[in-house]
Amino acid sequence: MKYIGKNFVMEGVKIRNLVKKFETPLYCYSYKKLKKNINQFKINFKNLNPIICFAVKANSNIKLLKEIQKLGLGADVVSLGELMKALKAGVNPKKIVFSGVGKTSEELDFAIQKEILLINAESKSEILEIEKIAKKKKKIVNIGIRLNPNTDARTLKKISTGKKQDKFGVSEKYFLELVNYLKDSKFINLKCISVHIGSQILNHQPYEKMLKVVDRVIKKSKYKFEFIDLGGGMGISYGEKDKSLNYRKYSIAIRKIVKKYKTKIIFEPGRSIIGNTAILVSRIIYIKQGSSKNFVILDAAMNDLMRPALYGAKHKIIPENKNNILSKKTYEFVGPICESSDKFLTAKKFQKLKEKDLIIISDVGAYGMSLSSNYNVRLKPPEILIKGYKVNVIKKRQKFKDII
Ligand SMILES: *Cc1c(COP(=O)(O)O)cnc(C)c1O
Repeated sequence: MKYIGKNFVMEGVKIRNLVKKFETPLYCYSYKKLKKNINQFKINFKNLNPIICFAVKANSNIKLLKEIQKLGLGADVVSLGELMKALKAGVNPKKIVFSGVGKTSEELDFAIQKEILLINAESKSEILEIEKIAKKKKKIVNIGIRLNPNTDARTLKKISTGKKQDKFGVSEKYFLELVNYLKDSKFINLKCISVHIGSQILNHQPYEKMLKVVDRVIKKSKYKFEFIDLGGGMGISYGEKDKSLNYRKYSIAIRKIVKKYKTKIIFEPGRSIIGNTAILVSRIIYIKQGSSKNFVILDAAMNDLMRPALYGAKHKIIPENKNNILSKKTYEFVGPICESSDKFLTAKKFQKLKEKDLIIISDVGAYGMSLSSNYNVRLKPPEILIKGYKVNVIKKRQKFKDII
């Protein structure tokens, strides 16, 4: 992704040409980036030889899931719908992990039927429910228990999941009780200890802390776990100020535990696989003069990309067509939705823009389209995948007849 001359180009395809055909707002993905991310992830943890399950909630486009599956990844799902999509995309059930605090009996029943790799349970009640279904179906079900390691992931508050006040997982003490309980279970085979402390983590230290807790809990349990599922959460760079996660240090810390307990590692990365593969292209509808700044009103809104409104996340915005003239006014990029939180970014130094110009919102591959909605009865945008100069529509723009 770069400029050729003045125009922004993705994998050799001029974005303005795509817009002529598909209009805006428009999600565009690069296959090359996706492949590169997956290879890089494998290289980062090469000496662990882990099972890598893509977190489907980061992006559940079936065509993308198919590509991800073909590149060797399994899936981490959090609902019946995601499980069905992963299976439809051809993911081997033996490479599917089911996470989540509130799996219904319908969801558990389906997962047990499909004999997936693991159901990561998060409470005693859930374990009892799994036992009940397994007994009825005369099956032995492989599960993990999610531990809440009470570790601060030091990321955005709303995407932190590993502190004791968070709803996820069970406490150390409760974990040990559940291990004990399951030792005598006829229908459940406890195979895994799982953790996931949050998302967009850029510092390896929270991971190291989490591993210390995992180490202690395994030791105390005196139980032989076949798998340690370390979840995902690896952060990506959304702006110049973000540093990058030290994978080497994280990997070294994991290696120690693996040697000690002879377990296999599972990862559930979402963002680090798909986050930087996509852009959201949008057209400026109006530019409105405010008292201290100019509002750049885009045709993309929080229904197309909710992260800024939901978590205060920042996505870099760049012009599609560079003119090298700096604007004197501060720009605030906003959508047309009737919510004050429907804004993407405030930019002090930006090139001079005019109405109808195209702009590009960066790194929207993860939790972009998957969090999109029809709020304000707005249509969901289309998704395009550029794969070796071929432009594939992997999701068409919604039509009003689909939703009205
Ligand atoms: C969301 C989630 C992930 C993926 O997190 P990323 O930050 O996208 O890597 C993995 N595991 C579980 C249990 C999750 O809830």
